[in-house]
Amino acid sequence: MDSYEGAWSRILQRAGLAALAWLTVGQFTAVEAQPPTADMLLIHARVYTVNAKQPWAEAVAIGGGKIVAVGDEKDIARYRGAKTQVLDAGGRLVLPGFTDCHIHFLDGSLSLQRVHLDDAKDIPEIQRRVKAYAEAHPDQPWVRGRGWTYPAVGPTNLPDKKYLDEIIPDRPVYLESYDGHTWWANSKALQLAGITRDTPNPAGGEIVRDPRTGEPTGAIKEDAADALMGHAIPAPSRKEKLRAFRAGLKEANRVGLVRVHSAGGVSAAIGDLQNADLLEELRRSGELSVRMYLAYRAEPPTITDAQFKVIEDARRQYHDEWISAGAVKFFMDGVVESHTAAMFTPYSDDAKLKGSLLWDPDTYKRLVADLDKRGVQIFTHAIGDRAVRLTLDAYENAAKANGTRDHRHRIEHIETITKEDIPRFGELGVIASFQPLHAYPNEDALEVWARNAGPERTQRAWAWHSVESSGGVLAFGSDWPIVTLNPWEGVQNAVTRQTTEGNPPGGFVPKERISLENAIRGYTLGAAIGGRREKTEGSLEPGKVADLIILSQDLFKIEPTEIGKTQVLLTMVGGKAVYESPEWKAVANSSTREAK
Ligand SMILES: [Zn+2]
Repeated sequence: MDSYEGAWSRILQRAGLAALAWLTVGQFTAVEAQPPTADMLLIHARVYTVNAKQPWAEAVAIGGGKIVAVGDEKDIARYRGAKTQVLDAGGRLVLPGFTDCHIHFLDGSLSLQRVHLDDAKDIPEIQRRVKAYAEAHPDQPWVRGRGWTYPAVGPTNLPDKKYLDEIIPDRPVYLESYDGHTWWANSKALQLAGITRDTPNPAGGEIVRDPRTGEPTGAIKEDAADALMGHAIPAPSRKEKLRAFRAGLKEANRVGLVRVHSAGGVSAAIGDLQNADLLEELRRSGELSVRMYLAYRAEPPTITDAQFKVIEDARRQYHDEWISAGAVKFFMDGVVESHTAAMFTPYSDDAKLKGSLLWDPDTYKRLVADLDKRGVQIFTHAIGDRAVRLTLDAYENAAKANGTRDHRHRIEHIETITKEDIPRFGELGVIASFQPLHAYPNEDALEVWARNAGPERTQRAWAWHSVESSGGVLAFGSDWPIVTLNPWEGVQNAVTRQTTEGNPPGGFVPKERISLENAIRGYTLGAAIGGRREKTEGSLEPGKVADLIILSQDLFKIEPTEIGKTQVLLTMVGGKAVYESPEWKAVANSSTREAK
């Protein structure tokens, strides 16, 4: 196996050569010739390029949607022609546009149109919001929402239908918890789904019941039980999905995202790959403003020939810099909170439980080798240390069996890991796809996690620093709509591992905090490497796409606890501004006037 440095220098060399080729073929004939005029110059900027060879610059020249040159004001002024547009950054921090490496985009986009309960503190507040939303959306047959937390729904930490019946007795209401593991139905929703005291619990799920009467309380636990509701809820129409996508794209650009890696739909109806035709429609109408990498979600027990054909067809159809397919997502296990993540040793709070694998390990290994041979990139959800081990083993086996190198297979989440497996990311070239906000140390969520995992495993919880310092590439994302898609809160948590109130003091497993530079890299160059796009994306250097953002504050000059408050002033994708904040528009207009 190549060393991490070896892999890195290969990657950087290739990126550099690609850029050089672009310049020589397209632009220069002689060394002293006048450089081409650019379409746009970005000047008076503090540019952090994420290019190790030239980390800082003052200005960027852009042409044909790509970066032509990066340098100081004087260098870049040479690219100015009569028609060149000049954008004055006013000394602000400029970064490469951010990528979210783990997102459920349509699912999140649909949730934007539903009632938000994220920071609702108690039942009266939830009731107020749900009622106001229902009244404002009389055309929606079901009142849907998400984000409620367990402490907010009362002393039992489980919701009760009576609170929803009090405000809406005649229309179904169905609300998902912030972590996506529990749902809250009113009586009308239970009735439409045909769920009664006689409905048995499905395997892996629970219809919570009143211990005295046996009646469903309205609390629905885990996907398997949620699926019983599924058939009663009308699937979103094409029009609704398009409307959702438009809102999602705007929201992504607003927070500085220029690309997302879709980790497969929560269900097929709202899978991003299954709805790629809608993204294609938006591209044709000029509305697609976020680059999309779409994964196919494989379900146990196997991948059939027909499914392989779907994967191959998608890859053939979508393979350019705006929409591409060619990844397959597996779920190896569940999550720590519900004791479903697969561990080597029992959970600390229950010696009977070790979690279990969702795939037969031999079948998984065979499928991984098959996909690897086809050049398909693999994303595997693995949270328990045993699931992480088996996934690494399968990737290692595939590389050996096929003689393949640098396929960049990924592990998603990696919440626990054994000491021995930490260096294997670097050794095998496996990408560590982490979502920094999953380790946000708020009391209710992380206490359950730490209690279940126990102190020994918690020492290596979300081991960002250990994986990175032993040679692994970090690729960061959100898992939206499980948590916000706003990456600035993620950057803050990667650096602090503390709540915005500063808890716990010193940070949660503080040795796993990473530097600001490395956190930014996780959302830019690391993300591009994790999506096999580092030749054209991920840093601001000649030949790469002109995807960049201008920020409200200089992350390098503020307290780390302030990073989450960052506002994006401008987001540019392919040399075109796709988002400008109101403040920015005001300033930009006045400076254009001055220039004239
Ligand atoms: Zn996910």
